[in-house]
Amino acid sequence: MSDEKRTEIGELGEFGLIEKLAEKFSPVHNETVKGIGDDTAVYDLGDQYLLTTTDMLLEGVHFDLSYVPLPHLGYKAVAVNISDIAAMNGLPKQITVSMGLSNRFSVEAVEALYEGIKAACDEYKVDLVGGDTTSSSSGLVLSITAQGVVERDKVVYRNGAMEGDILCVTGDVGGAFVGLQILEREKAEFLANPEMQPKLDKYDYVVGRQLRPRARMDIIHELKDLAIQPTAMIDISDGLASEAFHICKQSGLGVAIYEDKLPIEKQAFETAAEFSIDPNSCALNGGEDYELLFTIGQDDFDKIKNHADIHTIGYMQAKSKGRTFVTRSQNVVELQAQGWKHF
Ligand code: ADP
Ligand code: MG
Repeated sequence: MSDEKRTEIGELGEFGLIEKLAEKFSPVHNETVKGIGDDTAVYDLGDQYLLTTTDMLLEGVHFDLSYVPLPHLGYKAVAVNISDIAAMNGLPKQITVSMGLSNRFSVEAVEALYEGIKAACDEYKVDLVGGDTTSSSSGLVLSITAQGVVERDKVVYRNGAMEGDILCVTGDVGGAFVGLQILEREKAEFLANPEMQPKLDKYDYVVGRQLRPRARMDIIHELKDLAIQPTAMIDISDGLASEAFHICKQSGLGVAIYEDKLPIEKQAFETAAEFSIDPNSCALNGGEDYELLFTIGQDDFDKIKNHADIHTIGYMQAKSKGRTFVTRSQNVVELQAQGWKHF
């Protein structure tokens, strides 16, 4: 090994690494409709497609138990997987839960974690059907796999956007990132002065966005009722800009996003200002909002234009026009995506 070239993972980045590894694998089953590269894998069951997705959460990397209550962690770990099923326009059906536990955890602690898992199973109507339990020498490891189904002609990939399609985002963005800043600040203050009582009331909305994000299955049902079939869709885990880039790259297009259209909730906006961070940057690069980002044909615009929770924020344009951000003063600048860097 010592004479061989060593490349740091950070040089490739998370997506670059996955792409490099994926190159060597191509599906051998005709039923494997979609492998690596979308929100879920897609498997042909005949009249329906089976969707599969998995996410791993590590203590100290993805969550900090000094401020994340165990029931919230359990709920969120399920919700982020359901969100990926939603991003394919699917209906979630089952989950498995695998965990590595260190001896720091009691039965009561694991029960508290499962309280949240149960709440998510009830809310999203999914069955917990199995998992794996092992010991861990380095804190809590939680890995959840979810599967769901979608009608063959209703599946939505990241690659179906067309030039001129309207880009939509649900709910509001940036709040989860701002909430994390609050939790980190309170933790630092608590460590400096353990007598202190956390002051979270003023920040209830953004803290809730961080601790207990909801998967937007409600939107999936509404789109169906409105007879809207998105042309491309992804959920916002890394950040709006980074997710928009995935749609651009896979659909072979550029995008234009308008600053004045970004849905930023009042508390998120004001709290970002308190931290002297640009609210736009929180909205575009914050991540963990678990809202849906999708494109629709212009013919469908009338169906959603008055929808309170679906916001049109831009449109897909030719690749040659690039990925642009149009500021309030109509300046056109290059859209930047920082996303979450794990490496
Ligand atoms: P998401 O944010 O929607 O969960 P990711 O960015 O985590 O998606 O993953 C992108 C794609 O890469 C998915 O298809 C995922 O299944 C795949 N992937 C991620 N890590 C690995 C891995 N270690 N081996 C194979 N495929 C992977
Ligand atoms: Mg996803």
